[in-house]
Amino acid sequence: MQTSTDQKFRTREISASELSLLQGVRYFRNRAWENWGRTARCQPEFSFYPQRVEDLIQIVDFARERGRQVRVAASGHSWSGLVPTDGILVFVHQLNKVTMDLSDESNPRVVIESGATVKEVNDVLEAHGYTLPLNVVLESVRFGGLIATGSHGSGWNNSTLSDLVHAIEIVTASGQLHKFQVGVDSDEVMNAARLNLGMFGIIYRITMNVQKSWVVHAQDQRLPIDQVLENLKERVLAHDNMDLFWWPFCNQFWVKTWQRTEGEITAKPRKSLNDKVGSAIGARFHNEMLRLQSTFPRLTPGLSRFTFKVTPSKGDKVVDIVEAIHYRRAIEVAKMGCVEVAFKIDSGFDNVKWAIQAVMKRVEAYAQRGEYPMNVTMNVRFIHNSNCLLSPAFGEGHTCYIEILSRTNQADWESFSGEVASEWLTLPQARPHWAKEFQHIPNVIQHIKSSFGENIRRFNQIKDQLQVDPTHMFVNHTLEEIFLK
Ligand SMILES: Cc1cc2nc3c(=O)[nH]c(=O)nc-3n(C[C@H](O)[C@H](O)[C@H](O)COP(=O)(O)OP(=O)(O)OC[C@H]3O[C@@H](n4cnc5c(N)ncnc54)[C@H](O)[C@@H]3O)c2cc1C
Repeated sequence: MQTSTDQKFRTREISASELSLLQGVRYFRNRAWENWGRTARCQPEFSFYPQRVEDLIQIVDFARERGRQVRVAASGHSWSGLVPTDGILVFVHQLNKVTMDLSDESNPRVVIESGATVKEVNDVLEAHGYTLPLNVVLESVRFGGLIATGSHGSGWNNSTLSDLVHAIEIVTASGQLHKFQVGVDSDEVMNAARLNLGMFGIIYRITMNVQKSWVVHAQDQRLPIDQVLENLKERVLAHDNMDLFWWPFCNQFWVKTWQRTEGEITAKPRKSLNDKVGSAIGARFHNEMLRLQSTFPRLTPGLSRFTFKVTPSKGDKVVDIVEAIHYRRAIEVAKMGCVEVAFKIDSGFDNVKWAIQAVMKRVEAYAQRGEYPMNVTMNVRFIHNSNCLLSPAFGEGHTCYIEILSRTNQADWESFSGEVASEWLTLPQARPHWAKEFQHIPNVIQHIKSSFGENIRRFNQIKDQLQVDPTHMFVNHTLEEIFLK
């Protein structure tokens, strides 16, 4: 699909001799790209594979001088249309160096090239006895993608990954490497740069605050829904972390909690061969179950209850915090769709209960008609908030992130998840997660514009003042709709 900004940018053909000016940067022409969830695709004119920061500068110079737009692909695990472009797509996976910065003992940090995966970062942190206090569950995604979209983990006192950014180095439209850093730049500039959806330029490197690692008492329980909802607030406040999972047609939640402790580790070593094999088999089995439910939708209630029983939803152990955070492996095997919304929690958690029950009621209503659009899980997480201007968790008050997942391209998923999300978006300061599916939600662009309101205006103003992208080189169709119209 060619967009109006693409049309404006694509002015003339590029000759082979011009391309040879890009010394040593591997590229392909007109190579198709598709994201992991098979919900976004494009055929960029050029796909570039940089290996060094100098390559990023060359690519941006090349794009600017020839009027091409630039977007970056990391692991392609976002669902929304943030990546696609007809212009230049930059693959950053070879920029994956990770080093510790322990020059200031009281402020330990990790310096991450934007193509490094969560696993590559964890390997370095664990080797030095440090950790990020929060993270996403899967370890295959890359930090450029996590930071650009404001991805989050869970924990009542935690913010988002973008909030942990101390410095971020970005190749902006002029081809210069611009470092934004706490203590040098104002808080407001930092809070625009930390979560910019790739609109400041190509992120080269990120410096993040880390902590000495610690151990936690981690519990997994299957508890009746009514019992959990009755005193939801007390349960959440009683732990460092509490997540809820609900499999459709089940009368129990998987309640995952953890709490800092001093005890000895009782779990098996992290990432043993057994664990790897077990996770791979489990994930493939789950994938087959989902395939079965897709082919025979009426089997969904029974298979969903069975799947819940075989999840690791019963356990009691002392583990490293990093193991507690990344408690599931191989989750990428089963391709899924996902819709997620953040909203501010009211004082009694009544709106969280309402949001949960809205999903349960709709699953039942669809089932009455013989339709089973949701066959994976609902996940509810609780965090503090974010200071990043474009974070769905921006603003005073604790935030609930609620998401639903189903097999990729499941029948009726679009209408079901669109209706659920429309209900969720009526909650206070509710906003969709940038990286998840949101473009099918009715009137969502208008909703995003009004719910971020002043923050979008301020973000654009800061971007203009800094002159990071005066010609909108780093914007695509999706972003143009939200930020430029
Ligand atoms: C199974 C699964 C589980 C997930 N769990 C969570 C979760 O627990 N919490 C959560 O918040 N999210 C979660 N996500 C969403 C995920 O964190 C985001 O989609 C994240 O962006 C994925 O990173 P990526 O490397 O795939 O980035 P991509 O999808 O490749 O890119 C995401 C965005 O970042 C931009 N970008 C990437 N690198 C750069 C760079 N170097 N410079 C400029 N822009 C860049 C891209 O252009 C794009 O706009 C999950 C996704 C999946 C598939």
